[in-house]
Amino acid sequence: MAELERSGVPVRVITQNVDGLHQRAGMPSRKVLELHGTARSVVCTKCHARGPMEDALARVEAGEDDPPCLECGGILKSATVMFGERLDPVVLGEAVAITKACQVFIAVGTSLQVQPAAGLAGVAADHGARLIIVNAEPTPYDDRADEVVRQPIGTALPALLGRLSAESKEN
Ligand SMILES: [Zn+2]
Repeated sequence: MAELERSGVPVRVITQNVDGLHQRAGMPSRKVLELHGTARSVVCTKCHARGPMEDALARVEAGEDDPPCLECGGILKSATVMFGERLDPVVLGEAVAITKACQVFIAVGTSLQVQPAAGLAGVAADHGARLIIVNAEPTPYDDRADEVVRQPIGTALPALLGRLSAESKEN
């Protein structure tokens, strides 16, 4: 994905991962929407101040059992969305806007069963995007897809992105 982005194709990543691997692979952070937040940051449950996870872990290593928020003394947790918690409406809103505007929407490695993230595939199709689903198992959106790829992601995705990149250069 990062390579495709560097080649000049406008790419946005909407991810449910919290590990920051897209950014480490070279995707610019501003182009990665983390629907489930990030484990690379901590957030205060009381005043919502944020900070690097690294700093909080360094404080644990230095002997603090449960390092409190430096702003208000509240409890820090990883800045991830827990099961049953609502997604950040700002991030979700941005994801919907990008989905409505995109030409190609590729859903990779997701069963597309958990709303509201799964619904983005439907939003993409509703707004005229070419919908491509890459997943080992069938998904509820397969019948709306222009293309369904069942091969392993590690080999299927590079091939698919190479093909899309070549197509974008022809146009
Ligand atoms: Zn706080």
